[in-house]
Amino acid sequence: MPGETDLYDLLGISPSASEDEIKKAYRKKARDIHPDKNRDDPNAGTKFQEMAAAYEILSDPETRALYDEGGMEGLQGGRSGGMDMDDLFTQFFTGRGGGFSFGFDMGGPSRGRKNDSVIPHQVTLEDLYNGKTVKMNMEKQVLCNTCKGSGAKGNAKAKQCSGCEGSGRVYVKMQLGGGRMAVSPQKCENCNGKGEKLREKDMCKKCKGSGTVKEKTRQEIFIEKGMQDQQRIVLAGAGDEEPGVSAGDVVFVLKLLPHDSFERNGNDLLVKIKITLSEALLGFSRILLTHLDGRGIKVTSPPGKILQPNSTIVLRGEGMPIYKRPDTKGDLFVLFEIEMPSEEWLRSVDHQILENILPPKKPEMQPQPEIVDEVNFEEIDVRSQSFPASQDFFDHGFANQRDEIIDEDWEDEDEDEEGDEFMHGPAEPECRQQ
Ligand SMILES: [Zn+2]
Ligand SMILES: [Zn+2]
Repeated sequence: MPGETDLYDLLGISPSASEDEIKKAYRKKARDIHPDKNRDDPNAGTKFQEMAAAYEILSDPETRALYDEGGMEGLQGGRSGGMDMDDLFTQFFTGRGGGFSFGFDMGGPSRGRKNDSVIPHQVTLEDLYNGKTVKMNMEKQVLCNTCKGSGAKGNAKAKQCSGCEGSGRVYVKMQLGGGRMAVSPQKCENCNGKGEKLREKDMCKKCKGSGTVKEKTRQEIFIEKGMQDQQRIVLAGAGDEEPGVSAGDVVFVLKLLPHDSFERNGNDLLVKIKITLSEALLGFSRILLTHLDGRGIKVTSPPGKILQPNSTIVLRGEGMPIYKRPDTKGDLFVLFEIEMPSEEWLRSVDHQILENILPPKKPEMQPQPEIVDEVNFEEIDVRSQSFPASQDFFDHGFANQRDEIIDEDWEDEDEDEEGDEFMHGPAEPECRQQ
């Protein structure tokens, strides 16, 4: 009987399960614990990947036997004990891939650097708010299973390279300035710096001597709620394999596309809403916006409240979900822009009545300056004039609303809480996917 059964537990099967039962259990689990179906569970992505890794090990008779005999340590080629499951999983993921089929090189020390693939992946703010599963077809290099990565046919051995006489380097003469020459060592092209080379007839037919072949894989990444622009999702060991080097990682780097309505700052959001002059004066009770998950957000202004141009309110808990704690959300700041009525409207109303209703015009300056010049009224868009002051003067972007956010907050009690963090740029992810 095996001593360690954690991997079997992950699949919900007994250690005596047949290969067929393992496959069936995996398919059922994959359906049940798929992150798409467990959107409320922040760890759903991790659970799924652990389960897939367990299947990866148990579905291969060779690795299953190693596991049955020595547990995760057995798989690791007898590395030091005293690790808990998580550490072992991390090691497992670091050394090899979850959810991918390829040969295991059992615990042998790897030489050289592994080959990571970094792939930018565009996401919308909706994706980061709601979470998303992305499936993609990828191609990667895997060790050739015919020659086990050696590139050789049968027991054929590589012969010393004639180009570099086994050193892997060739010396190239270089012309320096002033008629001087230098000799610089360079990698031998003939053997790719290895110093030895297989003869054509000794090469493995399948991989043509390279030791690796291309394989199509289908990969799923889980964009979790609250992830940040530039955040990395690492699929450890899912990248290209190379003989003698542990498999590379596939690293997805999220690239957030700008949103038409919302701006993000850490866990908070800002949105600009246009209200009419009558709403600014008389209040409103309506759906102000459609949120990133499609919900309508209805707000009622307090009776008697006049909204000044560019005043701001905060809708607590309506910001971005917080990464790994998606039940908690940041805040949503709403900046009000006041739409003045049109001239068409003005032509349709009685100006005398309007003047009687509205607050009085400003009185003429008293005392009047001695000289008063009458000048022309000419409209122009001063923002097109490259004024030195234009940036601070006209920009009503997120950062510049800081004071107003604090002043105009309809919730009076938390006035001091907001200010400090607000000026910083996009926050670093609280913790990175590993
Ligand atoms: Zn081969
Ligand atoms: Zn050579």
